[in-house]
Amino acid sequence: MNELNYDYVENFLYENIKRKSDFLESLEKEALENHVPIISPDVGQFLKFLIASKKPKKILEIGTAVGYSGLLMLSGSEQIEKFVTIELNETTANIAKENFKKAGEDSRVQVIIGDGLEQIKKLDEDFDLVFIDAAKAHYQEYFNEIKRLIKPGSLIVCDNVLYKAMVTTDDLLVRRKKTIVKRLRAFIDEVINLEDFESSLIPMGDGLLVAVRIK
Ligand code: SAH
Ligand code: MG
Repeated sequence: MNELNYDYVENFLYENIKRKSDFLESLEKEALENHVPIISPDVGQFLKFLIASKKPKKILEIGTAVGYSGLLMLSGSEQIEKFVTIELNETTANIAKENFKKAGEDSRVQVIIGDGLEQIKKLDEDFDLVFIDAAKAHYQEYFNEIKRLIKPGSLIVCDNVLYKAMVTTDDLLVRRKKTIVKRLRAFIDEVINLEDFESSLIPMGDGLLVAVRIK
């Protein structure tokens, strides 16, 4: 449990999502068994909702893991022309590549192996939606660099920003997570107050921050 909601609320939200393909179901099951920190079911459903409303052609993801969130976003979204995803761990990235291939999605997917920030810096194309789900201590740096790649109307979605609710209260904060939590708090404060973005903090999954560029 993510400590953000009552268990009965969370369970209800997790159960009330659209049925997924057998492939996604088995990928989800396998990821959970292997303790891969994939997006929670409600976050997955919300991403699908955002994609259906915004109809992005190009998506950038930081933190591929085994490709679960990527495949979920791609499934049923034919208008996505290009999905670029960055993963630091080479072994994990190769598993993701296999999964994209198995799902028949490899032609519109580009998996980049490397550090998120370093790789974002090398990109020079516009994205309509960016999903940040990698090293929490570096969200601010990712965000600052991503600004260069998005136009007004584009979205940035950040996962795990409330980090087991530790970001919301020191009562839950464990000492070894102090630096990450401090950075996440500063990140949230900064993004919420940006002049050229309108943002919303949602207690969904492990905490979601959604930002739209307005100018
Ligand atoms: N988005 C995936 C889960 C990502 S878990 C899903 O929901 O299915 C976070 C991933 O970020 C891990 O696979 C981890 O290896 C990767 N990661 C951690 N630090 C990173 C960095 N600095 N750059 C890129 N990826 C990173
Ligand atoms: Mg996450």
